[in-house]
Amino acid sequence: MNGKNKNSGPPLTCDGCREGLQEYLDGTLDKPESLRFFLHLRECSGCREEHDRLLGLFQMLDSLPDHEVPADFDAAVLASVPYAAYQAMEPLRRERVPVFLEEAFLPRFVRARTVRLVGVGVASISAALALRGDGSAVLPVLVVAGLVPEILVRLQGLGRRALESMGRAES
Ligand SMILES: [Zn+2]
Repeated sequence: MNGKNKNSGPPLTCDGCREGLQEYLDGTLDKPESLRFFLHLRECSGCREEHDRLLGLFQMLDSLPDHEVPADFDAAVLASVPYAAYQAMEPLRRERVPVFLEEAFLPRFVRARTVRLVGVGVASISAALALRGDGSAVLPVLVVAGLVPEILVRLQGLGRRALESMGRAES
C-alpha cells in the first residue's frame, strides 16, 4: 500500500480534488491519480458531497434520451404542417441563414458603399498602373486589397441566393 502511495504523489488537497473531480468521474485519470481522488474522497465529506452532487448530475444527463435529430426531421415537420402555416414560417426560415452569410457578419466598414467603391477604384487604378509597367511591387497588393470588400460582399450575396434557391427546391 505504501509503495502505491509513493507513486500517487502527495495527498490531494480539497482544491485539487474539486478541480479534477469531473475528470475523476469521467474516468479519464490514470490509476495512481484516480487513487488519490478515491483516498481523498473517502476522508473528506465536503468533497464527497460535491462528488455525489456531480455524480447525480452526470447520471441525470446520461439518462436523458440522446437521439440525434433525424436527417429528414425538417421534411417530416414540414409535411405535417398545413401550407398556410408553412408560409407563415417564412420569416423563421430566413433566420436560419448561416451567420457568415448574414450581412451583419461583415464589419460595417466593409459593407459601406464608399469603402467598396473606393476599394474597387484603388484596385483598378493600381491595376492600370501595374499594366503600364510603371508601378512598384505594392501595386498588385493594392489590387487585391482594394477588391477584398467588394468580393466579400458579393460572395455573401451569392451564398445567400444559393441558400434561398436550395430552400425553394426543398419546398
Ligand atoms: Zn476535500
